[in-house]
Amino acid sequence: MTSSNARLFERARRVMPGGVSSPVRAFGAVGGTPRFAASARGAWITDVEGKQYVDLVGSWGPMILGHAHPEVVAAVQDAVGDSSSFGAPCLRELELAEEIVRLVEPVQRVRFTSSGTEAVMTAVRLARGATGRALIVKFAGCYHGHSDALLAAAGSGVATLGLPDSPGVTAGTAASTLVLPYGRLDLVEQAFAAHGDQIAAVVTEPVPANMGVIAPPAGFNRGLRDLCSAHGAVFIVDEVLTGFRLSRAGYWGLAGSAEGWAPDLFTFGKVVGGGLPMSAVGGRADLMDLLAPAGPVYQAGTLSGNPAAAAAGLATLRLADDAVYAHLDQVSSQLRAMVSEALTQAGVAHRINHWGNLFSVFFTSAEVSDYDTAKAQDSAAFARFFHAMLDRGVWLAPSAFEAWFVSAALGERELDVIARALPEAACAAADPARPAGS
Ligand SMILES: *Cc1c(COP(=O)(O)O)cnc(C)c1O
Repeated sequence: MTSSNARLFERARRVMPGGVSSPVRAFGAVGGTPRFAASARGAWITDVEGKQYVDLVGSWGPMILGHAHPEVVAAVQDAVGDSSSFGAPCLRELELAEEIVRLVEPVQRVRFTSSGTEAVMTAVRLARGATGRALIVKFAGCYHGHSDALLAAAGSGVATLGLPDSPGVTAGTAASTLVLPYGRLDLVEQAFAAHGDQIAAVVTEPVPANMGVIAPPAGFNRGLRDLCSAHGAVFIVDEVLTGFRLSRAGYWGLAGSAEGWAPDLFTFGKVVGGGLPMSAVGGRADLMDLLAPAGPVYQAGTLSGNPAAAAAGLATLRLADDAVYAHLDQVSSQLRAMVSEALTQAGVAHRINHWGNLFSVFFTSAEVSDYDTAKAQDSAAFARFFHAMLDRGVWLAPSAFEAWFVSAALGERELDVIARALPEAACAAADPARPAGS
């Protein structure tokens, strides 16, 4: 008999391209049938066949407290009871803005949007509006959402599916994005030397995590800050993934604040919405106040600042206290040790990169420091590993290019399940003769 997952996937493909709403979910890179999620609570996700998995994806980042946290659910229910949307200013969005300003010191103003893509798109327009310049510098393998200007050499699904730069992006748009290899400050310097008066912004993931996790070389982010300052360009740090995940003040809270620098603009998403569609641009008042209606740079949204999403975000940020971040760090380091041990035992070449609680596993013996080295890994070994883990009840991202996302809900019981799954999964990774599973 065909499984419910398979039947639903078949149905979905009839009415949705590839059967999904976002490409990587289709299991294209690992083969087999995507699991349809039915419900999730804490660290556990249940598919439509009733099988339970320990979730190490956390909806690709947002679910830092685990799923259906009672206080988050209550906050959302409360909000929705007052109506799910007003299209007018409301207290909940104001409170979330105040919380972000309180947590991330360089942020003086916040503009809410609904997805990370939209937040970065807004930051880029703001940078262009503020500087009157066109060029954007981004780094190969960094993902900043799927807006036209930033899709060039993007990580995440673009890396997973091995897509060339996407059709539908005009040559004109592509020409205004300068893509440089990650981590090479000398090349950024050269770009500024050649085009300094045309560069509106440099945008980066402070810790790239969409080509797998890559620790920024010492001084790299700071160096970008200094180059932008020297050339009058806007420095955008895309903390959509790292914000409120690495610490209460994201990457900046652990590194920028200690080193005494700040970006001009931050973008936030994922955790900031606690699992509902919510994202934000934040930054210095002088720059942010160029946004309409305070200034001339237009930006808007029917559902922006949505009260239910604001309630979920606010509840999540308030619950994510020091104990939560200490737990994430500890679980992350336990997991890294467990995975490394199992892969080593099975003789599987691998590298585990991490920065703070963010980590990913590369199936390669070579050091991974940029997009090219990330792409050189053995994706087939990952696919076998992935399916063996899934069969044993561990839900990993169906891509070798994603971070593993830990949550506050992971405890001893979940780590036990993972520990039991790992040796077999490592053997599967070691054995090219094994099919990747269903
Ligand atoms: C996920 C992500 C985005 C895009 O966010 P969406 O909500 O998927 O549009 C942008 N930047 C980074 C760094 C991300 O990880």
